[in-house]
Amino acid sequence: MNIFNNNIDFAKQLDANDSLQSFRDKFYFPHLHGRQAVYFTGNSLGLQPKSTQDAILTELEDWANYGVEGHFHARNPWYSYHELLNQSAARIVGAEPSEVVMMNQLTVNLHLLMVSFYRPTKQRYKIICEAKAFPSDQYAIESQVKWHGFDPESAIIEISPRAGEHCISHEDIYTAIQENKDELALVLFGGVNYYSGQVFDMQTITEKAHDAGACIGFDLAHAAGNINILLHDWQVDFACWCSYKYLNSGPGSVAGAFVHEKHHKEHLPRLAGWWGHDKSTRFKMEKGFNPIPTAEGWQLSNAPIFSMAAHKASLAIFEEAGLENLIAKSKVLKAFTEFIVADVNAQLGKDKGTLEIITPMNDRPADYFGSGCQVSIIAHGYGKKLFEDLLLNSVIADWREPNVIRIAPVPLYNSFEDIYLFGEVLLKIMK
Ligand SMILES: *Cc1c(COP(=O)(O)O)cnc(C)c1O
Repeated sequence: MNIFNNNIDFAKQLDANDSLQSFRDKFYFPHLHGRQAVYFTGNSLGLQPKSTQDAILTELEDWANYGVEGHFHARNPWYSYHELLNQSAARIVGAEPSEVVMMNQLTVNLHLLMVSFYRPTKQRYKIICEAKAFPSDQYAIESQVKWHGFDPESAIIEISPRAGEHCISHEDIYTAIQENKDELALVLFGGVNYYSGQVFDMQTITEKAHDAGACIGFDLAHAAGNINILLHDWQVDFACWCSYKYLNSGPGSVAGAFVHEKHHKEHLPRLAGWWGHDKSTRFKMEKGFNPIPTAEGWQLSNAPIFSMAAHKASLAIFEEAGLENLIAKSKVLKAFTEFIVADVNAQLGKDKGTLEIITPMNDRPADYFGSGCQVSIIAHGYGKKLFEDLLLNSVIADWREPNVIRIAPVPLYNSFEDIYLFGEVLLKIMK
């Protein structure tokens, strides 16, 4: 039964009934061709919160006023700045505060955590990952395998979608884990696939990896701030994520790392730096690395305060909105998107080519596991010009060769009207 209508008044009514509507005003929207853009690329670079400037200005002022003394006397002392983020960052990924730390960049953290959790032996050296993982993850995995003297051809097992499908069957992941269980060192997956928007069943993948005697890690770049994650309860070994996509903390901003509490006292091998060393003796500057017995023990360097400040401002918005409220809105936004795309299809008629949503959605139960913001759409018979025409109409979507348009209606700042406008523009340019 359809509960939606494809008209502007209906979309505006949905916005009026949205308890999170006021959050849209907390963000700056870019302008394109003289109009405020319809922005659907929060999965690539989240919009700037209006509160970010003040947060960074605070640190600039304290630097001006205190110089080096700011490490201890700034309003938010830089020495322990990362500790200010642990609580709210932990809530984003379902962790204990001691299990997370904001540091470095995403790919750096992936490497650092693989140093601790991918320690292959002659017997156990294989890694299972998703085919066509984000290129940086592919390069990280391949270079780690080579670094340890193994051959990527035999050590890396990629799980692809079945012929003619766009998403990965969970059954195929579990089968591969089972088939390789005696040689498996690590399962490393995304929480949400960046291309298809498919959400993976992290809990079951974790169970299966552990049953096979392997470690499990997740790249949460497209999952953090987007879907419900319970890293601690699921017993995930490690995870990393960036803060500039759904977490709105600015280009290249500081990234997150998670190490499950069960590993904190194991003295796992790692690449060490002074910021991971015991705080009470750090400034004695002595020999002998003694790691902090939390995720902070994986830190190398003192914190990048300006990007931490941006992240702090952004996390405050998540705290205020509540991730569970955002996820609830996200589901309705997504269902409305699905409806609009189907309606545009119907209005185009069969000879006009069709829009096919490849993201598992509410009405496509095949391997449906939860829902994120992203909707990936194939425009059969249309090339990149479709994307360019969207831009000319002030709609910022994302284009992936050969013919996929990705849009991410983000519950913090996208509206139902945005989706209505998207449908209106699509119909106009495809006709
Ligand atoms: C965005 C993204 C990256 C980017 O890595 P950086 O180190 O932040 O440049 C890596 N992996 C995945 C899965 C991503 O989605």
